[in-house]
Amino acid sequence: MTSIAIAGAGLMGRLLAWRLSRQGHAVHVYESSSADQPASAAYTAAGMIAPYSERSVSDEGVFKRGLQSLCLWPALLQELHTDSGIEVAYGVGGSLLLAHPQDQQQWQRLRQQVDLYGWQENSDFNWLNDAEVHALEPDLAPSFKQGLWWPQERHIDNHALLTALQQAAEQAGAVFHFEQTIEEDQTQGWWCHDQRIAEDRYLDCRGVGLKQSAASLPRTLRGVRGEVCRLRSRDVRLQRPVRLLHPRYHLYLVPKQIVGDEQHFVLGATEIESEDRSSVSVRSALELLSALYSVCPALAEARIDHFEQNLRPAYLDHCAHIDQPRPDLLRINGLFRHGYLQAPALLYELQQQFGLALAMPTLSMEHAA
Ligand SMILES: Cc1cc2nc3c(=O)[nH]c(=O)nc-3n(C[C@H](O)[C@H](O)[C@H](O)COP(=O)(O)OP(=O)(O)OC[C@H]3O[C@@H](n4cnc5c(N)ncnc54)[C@H](O)[C@@H]3O)c2cc1C
Repeated sequence: MTSIAIAGAGLMGRLLAWRLSRQGHAVHVYESSSADQPASAAYTAAGMIAPYSERSVSDEGVFKRGLQSLCLWPALLQELHTDSGIEVAYGVGGSLLLAHPQDQQQWQRLRQQVDLYGWQENSDFNWLNDAEVHALEPDLAPSFKQGLWWPQERHIDNHALLTALQQAAEQAGAVFHFEQTIEEDQTQGWWCHDQRIAEDRYLDCRGVGLKQSAASLPRTLRGVRGEVCRLRSRDVRLQRPVRLLHPRYHLYLVPKQIVGDEQHFVLGATEIESEDRSSVSVRSALELLSALYSVCPALAEARIDHFEQNLRPAYLDHCAHIDQPRPDLLRINGLFRHGYLQAPALLYELQQQFGLALAMPTLSMEHAA
């Protein structure tokens, strides 16, 4: 049995805590925020697993990890259900990309991009006409005359996932220490409240927090601000995330759980080059909500629960990296706007290339390559 310290109980930290504790390792997770007010980007995120939709803003490596993750998530969620008793919703309706009729230039550009990547119509994607768009999502504004449907994309209930991961890890013996900030000294040793953390291995999953408290960094890490609105509606039902192609902003609306007679949604997201964590600006709120109204006028009567903001951890190349500054220390960071899209693939890499015993589900030959 190996003793393992994990810094950060966001997406990577919780996934690793679960996989390692169920393998019999002694796991301690240190998280700077409190248990009831999570500060992770993972908590704010919309939870889309959308490698095709995101291809134009991500490189080949991220796309490939996205396809691997689409393969791995179902098996992981099944095991998580067994371990935690929590069934995490995993939306299988694909996702739908739309543009207003006046934004033809964006639409043409999208067509060129899709041609460029050499994907196959009817297996990877489907161009839809007016009737087909509204057959998939009857509550959308009637003005949409065309759409692009990615049937293989998925979305996950990220709040339920984070709860289930902690529960499953704790049941397997992991200990979570909230409101405990890890600091590093010059030798990259870990400290918490002046006490040295002495374990066999260290996994650094601090997201943007790494920037403040790491002794040295191999790459430039920055936070990229994202803002979302959480709302709920009695009148509108969506089966899948809807994205709007627009010259100024990229809006998405992700359906979440139905509670009573209301469906919950996450509306997002701005992408602002700033590490400001203060609350959402009037401008962002106006842009998000006016775009929302144009996508789905019936959401005018939706109720706003709250706005939320967070920082996506990003390296300059917008790719996630696993670094090993010392034999017993691994840093997993830079997941940027693709955390849910890349996390299972990163676990797989940690097992295959860095020898972590994670007992990952197998990947088909096609995706393992
Ligand atoms: C608005 C928004 C929307 C997003 N939507 C999507 C999406 O739809 N699909 C997708 O794939 N990705 C999405 N993402 C990205 C995704 O959330 C991130 O890529 C992912 O959460 C990164 O995981 P992580 O574990 O590296 O960091 P985080 O999830 O941020 O977790 C890091 C944790 O470390 C803790 N921490 C920091 N410093 C310390 C310290 N010194 N000691 C102890 N703990 C510390 C933090 O409090 C935090 O809990 C979105 C992000 C945002 C902000």
